[in-house]
Amino acid sequence: MGPRCRHPQSAGCGLSSDKPQKPSTKIVTAGRRASLTGPVVNVPIWRASTHLYPDVAALEAGKASNEDGRFFYGRRGSPTQWSLAEALTEMEPGAHGTMLYPSGVAAVACALLSVLAPGDVLLMTDNAYDPSRSFAEGFLKRFGVETRYFDPRATDYDSVFCDRTKAILLESPGSLTFEVQDIPAICAAAKKHNVVTLLDNTWATSYFHTALDKGIDMAILSCTKYIVGHSDVMMGSVTTHAKYWTKLRQTAQQLGQTVSPDDAYLASRGLRTLSLRMKAHEASALQIAKWLQTQADVAAVFHPALPECPGHDIWKRDFTGASGLFSFIHKGDAATAAAFIDALGLFGIGYSWGGFESLALPVHPEKHRSAVPWDKEGTLIRLQIGLEDTDDLIADLEAAFRESGTLT
Ligand SMILES: *Cc1c(COP(=O)(O)O)cnc(C)c1O
Repeated sequence: MGPRCRHPQSAGCGLSSDKPQKPSTKIVTAGRRASLTGPVVNVPIWRASTHLYPDVAALEAGKASNEDGRFFYGRRGSPTQWSLAEALTEMEPGAHGTMLYPSGVAAVACALLSVLAPGDVLLMTDNAYDPSRSFAEGFLKRFGVETRYFDPRATDYDSVFCDRTKAILLESPGSLTFEVQDIPAICAAAKKHNVVTLLDNTWATSYFHTALDKGIDMAILSCTKYIVGHSDVMMGSVTTHAKYWTKLRQTAQQLGQTVSPDDAYLASRGLRTLSLRMKAHEASALQIAKWLQTQADVAAVFHPALPECPGHDIWKRDFTGASGLFSFIHKGDAATAAAFIDALGLFGIGYSWGGFESLALPVHPEKHRSAVPWDKEGTLIRLQIGLEDTDDLIADLEAAFRESGTLT
């Protein structure tokens, strides 16, 4: 359908547009087929375990089809979850489908379990999210999978693979230290060695960084962060192309992974404003990152859109934007950095990110590294820049530097 099409729900629109939609349009239209949403704009909440069939023949047919998109039993979801999954799929060009999980950690675990078998080697970037490492060192080790870690800044990708390497888990940029990885180069090398490529794409989301068109096989999101966007619902997703879809889906079903329709509804509701929120997070975070670079107490700022950040050129080539999460080194010791964070008024102290409110947190990459030690002096502080006024946030940071009185 061409530009005359007004309603995403009208037949043939949305999915089959002959002119590719811009990402921000897709965020609004995706997953809103009439068969999923009915006549209303936002997908309704279908809360159901049991779906009734008109007769035994229909029941048997439903069982045989084994496909999403039709009622079977509550664990397979309802239009509320399917609409969200379809929207996330449409945001990744080349994707075949998306599975939803009750958290980002469950998404990482199930994606890995869908491709790994005992005896395999998993490669993991050394800056990976700490619970991903814990899953590898705990569950995967007991399951007979060995995990090896590699420098996120490695460039000789061919040498990181061995005969037993089955999968590689990437995270770019890393969510504490923000190194950007050359995903297309790593994927090209991985393909030569028949290695499955998985990317934790939570920082950028597919709005700022589509993953499958860069060569990634499985794009993982902690939807808890920017997709939900309101610091309430926990959710994860894995989006993949046709080759791994059946394995991914079967693994999730065998492990009984489901998300509630209420949570899926809230995630869909959050998704529709993703482009606006991301642009606002981006502008404010970049302004604050640049301001921090001028502060006497700051030794370094790690933000992929700053030329000084490791991998900045790759970010510029592969990403269409930067989100609101970055870190900086406070020159003071841990106690001074803690006093600085405690003195902040507008920044909450807490885990997670991607919501509408700003957060600050001391982070310790030295505890979560094994391939390359983190030995920078000072204390690393991670900021999530929310949707408050940028000047207010800078004034808050400025006051906290003053009050926690250190080197200035
Ligand atoms: C938060 C986070 C996860 C895990 O997501 P949860 O929804 O909290 O389980 C995974 N990867 C990254 C980079 C994260 O920041």
